Amino acid sequence: MTETKGLRFSESRDQILANLADQVGHIWAGFDEARDSEPELDEKSRQLLALALPEVGLGEGQSIDQALSLLDQSTAQSRPRFFAYIGSSGLEIGAIADFLASSYDINLAVDSGAASMLEYQTAAWVGDFIGYKNAKGLFASGGTISNITALAAARTRALPDSRKSGVATPVAIYCSAEAHYSNVRAVELLGLGADSIRSIPIDESRKMRVDALESAISSDIAAGIVPIAIIASAGTTLTGAVDPLREIAQLAKAHNIWLHVDGAYGAPAASTEFVGDLFDGIDLADSVTIDAHKWLFVPKACSILLVKELRHLHHTFSHDEAYMPHDSENYNPVDLTLEYSRPLRALKMWMGFYAHGAEEFRAAITGNLQLAQATYARAKADPNFRVLPNAPQLSIVPIQYCPPGVADVSAHNKALCLEIVKDGRIYISPAVIDGEVWLRPCYTNFRTSERDIEIMFEVIEELSAKLLA
Ligand SMILES: *Cc1c(COP(=O)(O)O)cnc(C)c1O
Repeated sequence: MTETKGLRFSESRDQILANLADQVGHIWAGFDEARDSEPELDEKSRQLLALALPEVGLGEGQSIDQALSLLDQSTAQSRPRFFAYIGSSGLEIGAIADFLASSYDINLAVDSGAASMLEYQTAAWVGDFIGYKNAKGLFASGGTISNITALAAARTRALPDSRKSGVATPVAIYCSAEAHYSNVRAVELLGLGADSIRSIPIDESRKMRVDALESAISSDIAAGIVPIAIIASAGTTLTGAVDPLREIAQLAKAHNIWLHVDGAYGAPAASTEFVGDLFDGIDLADSVTIDAHKWLFVPKACSILLVKELRHLHHTFSHDEAYMPHDSENYNPVDLTLEYSRPLRALKMWMGFYAHGAEEFRAAITGNLQLAQATYARAKADPNFRVLPNAPQLSIVPIQYCPPGVADVSAHNKALCLEIVKDGRIYISPAVIDGEVWLRPCYTNFRTSERDIEIMFEVIEELSAKLLA
């Protein structure tokens, strides 16, 4: 047998950790301030990315240095002027939590002692934070998985035999015309068929119209179609519209339909005085999706599905696997979740709340909401900008730039968006709203400041002028 140190550090572990601490300090300092452009991929990185599988290791310290240089040449959504999609923050205490969780590499498929208790505790904290009382919850990779999980539970409740015999009866799932696509995917994967989705029209605030929901439900029931779930959006991804949750909950209750609130993006704002009222009624939902990796600032991947009762998840996912304990008193996570192996995703949220308190989270979310109002006011007051008829409900502010001389506003904003990304000072994504292309800044980073918004307007004006020159 050959002597080998096999996969243990060959360099000094203390030295590696000390260097790493230095490097991480630099990274975080680099996120405090925006950088003026995104670096191009350099020659060294190109070579590195063409490297064939090393047969012999090149060293731990070297691997860290190389990884850092590649990461630095990647688009990090945690930078303060990243306004595209729904950005990230990479909360520092959360990054440390991920490092620790990976070091222990606990598997939450089965009961893991304190870590399993911590997961439930954190879910209850998140529930308290958004006003969803006595919440039970389990962490998943993303809102997509949480939404699939919720819909699976709704299906089992409506059709208890469906796990065994499939779904033979016609069914219906209700959501607003601007609900997130992951809900459609969930319906498709669960074999319910995308045709069973009732895409309910929205009002001028882009919220689901409750009168239209009510008549859709009535005509389905009259036709013998089984309602499976209503999916209310608590913050649409397009414009941040929050559906009228209390009214929807009343309908759900009257017809005994599962109410799922997709708050992947918006639910954290329920904690604020600024817009908390918009979420009135969230506590009546059967399930709520919330992505902590969006507006609770922690690193990906960290979504939570909150429920009032675990038993519906148990009816949906419990099974007998010879090599797994399936205690009927204390559910094993694997009997409640879609995933098997699960890392301790809750730790970053737990450490975040423990370190900073709910108060600092609320303040940061409120700061983002205020930036959105300021952006709307600034654009509305400027005849060269167009805004939507109503002020933003959350932190997404669609704007269109249309200075004199622009004939096709949509085409100009589309070109402008490409130019902005190429320029690299800020990052914005486009959105198609009612058939027109808009710029869609979204603020979910606690680092973003008023100064960053000023820069955004400057860049938009400057690059538009360049395009028109
Ligand atoms: C982002 C988002 C999702 C999907 O969540 P992932 O974490 O990206 O899987 C679902 N619904 C809404 C409203 C979202 O904003």
